Amino acid sequence: MTQDPRPAPFFIGESPALDFLNTVAMSRSVRYDWLESGADLLDWLVAAGLASEPEVAPFRNAGTANALEQARQDIIAFRERLRSFVDEVCGRELTNPGRPVIAEINAILARGARFLQIEATAGSGDPAARPLALVDKHPMTDPRDLIVRIATAAARLITEADFHYVRNCEGPTCTLYFLDISKNHKRRWCSMEVCGNRAKAAAYRKR
Ligand SMILES: [Zn+2]
Repeated sequence: MTQDPRPAPFFIGESPALDFLNTVAMSRSVRYDWLESGADLLDWLVAAGLASEPEVAPFRNAGTANALEQARQDIIAFRERLRSFVDEVCGRELTNPGRPVIAEINAILARGARFLQIEATAGSGDPAARPLALVDKHPMTDPRDLIVRIATAAARLITEADFHYVRNCEGPTCTLYFLDISKNHKRRWCSMEVCGNRAKAAAYRKR
């Protein structure tokens, strides 16, 4: 097995949709992409919490490789359209629903299967918890269904996040996005370890 030169994918966005954009990142002038293969895509969806390993396991078979690669290409094309949209609206109020990317997300969501099922709840230890719960199911039968999970995350970002607080990291070459959920909304960096400390060191050298 060859060693993966990439660092682990970034989950600093406070939103799976922003971390989806963050699957392309510039780190010290090297461009990394964490969705370079079908296996990459499945690994990332599981790491992002947008799918479970048992759900994506059937798509790891050689028989679905072509369909998975097609799904991956559709997903990375969608990633760049979503990026343009977020680039344009970040830092502002989002009011206009008549944007092409929103129509595209709605079309993807309309394709996804969805139904309710009664299931036993796992012993949460909470005595007030009911033993049975009504659970929202979104089954995936084909690699084409993978994009529905990503579109759902994008739809949640668009409808639930305050876009005033969707920002780019201030690192001069950093492309990472995050939703600033800090109390005083003063978050500036993707992470203190990556860009925050580098900026502090640069300011120190200047002095
Ligand atoms: Zn950064």
